[in-house]
Amino acid sequence: MPGETKRTGDPMDGSLRGGTEDGPRDIMREREHPDMMVPPVTDSGTLPNLRFSFSDTHVKLCDGGWTREVTERELPVAKTISGVNMRLNPGETMTGVRELHWHLENEWAYMISGAARVTIIDLEGTMHVDDVPAGDLWFFPTGLPHSIQALADGCEFLLAFDDGAFSEEYTLLLSDFLAHIPPEVIAKNFGWSQEIVELLPKDELYIFPALTPGPLADDLPRGVEPGSGTPYTFHISQASPVDCPGGRVTVIDGSNFPITTISCAVVEVDPGGMRELHWHPNNDEWQFFLAGYARMTVFNTGSVARTFNYLAGDVGTVPRATGHYVENIGDTRMRYLALFASPQFQEVSLQQWLAKLPPALVKAHLNLPDDVIAKLKKDRQLVVAGTPRSER
Ligand code: MN
Ligand code: MN
Repeated sequence: MPGETKRTGDPMDGSLRGGTEDGPRDIMREREHPDMMVPPVTDSGTLPNLRFSFSDTHVKLCDGGWTREVTERELPVAKTISGVNMRLNPGETMTGVRELHWHLENEWAYMISGAARVTIIDLEGTMHVDDVPAGDLWFFPTGLPHSIQALADGCEFLLAFDDGAFSEEYTLLLSDFLAHIPPEVIAKNFGWSQEIVELLPKDELYIFPALTPGPLADDLPRGVEPGSGTPYTFHISQASPVDCPGGRVTVIDGSNFPITTISCAVVEVDPGGMRELHWHPNNDEWQFFLAGYARMTVFNTGSVARTFNYLAGDVGTVPRATGHYVENIGDTRMRYLALFASPQFQEVSLQQWLAKLPPALVKAHLNLPDDVIAKLKKDRQLVVAGTPRSER
């Protein structure tokens, strides 16, 4: 190499491939993505972009909170799911409410912080009401109208819709519906006078403050006890986390949340740990990183592989059936949601497959000694353990 000396942050690796960088540069961003600045030597060819941060989105500010979204517009490869991050404000007397609405897509949600009261009416005309605290989920099927309102402490949540082209701008709002129906039709429908019709809002409300909800029991339909739950909400205490060598995984899919057509794995990876090499036969994976620092390599046909880094607030995506791992490269626990627009969570573990093949077949492919093949783990590991980078 002709006279280059690596400085911190330069796109140059230990063997001095690459070179120094004079800029222009955004050095903070470059340091957040070390595996893009200095990709592993195993990276090859091109893949579509597989990362987009909610921090790079346009935020819609409202009187009662805010919302932002990562759709196919931001991350074109993500065709199966789009995501919305929404905040509804706290308050002792008024809290943020997401206006009554419905939409074509199925809606799945994960409460990140705080708690909300949600309502949904089903096709039999039964109203379902529940409170959803942090870690809990809901699923609202296509076309059924629903509401979300923060309890006194406010709330923030992730919404996922089973169409990458969905946008929060494409929902059917109560106020918008009535504002676009002739007033005499509204009067006839409800048996109202024109004076009453005049009271209706002229513009959409979307996210606005409304009286803080009282005790759940006050809003429940007659005969329903608080704590009895609904088919449309899922309390994470109902799930069974799987303890793994390097973390834990909680799957919420049609097997324990029968109404959902969107499956989810809540993945926690301890420092140094790694979601094992695997792939998903049935659908693309749409990830939302909740905490920590990760890297992921995705391998596809044509000897193509590319490595990306992920921070809290990032969205990642993995095309169906492509090989990948997700490694915790930080010093704190890394957490992410893995979502699939399919009712069942499905995966193939590379290690389990190799462990259960005839050993001679594995040896013929990988040149491994018999004792190494014999020690391959026959159970899915989900998350393997490892030494944190800071201790290596
Ligand atoms: Mn909705
Ligand atoms: Mn995966």
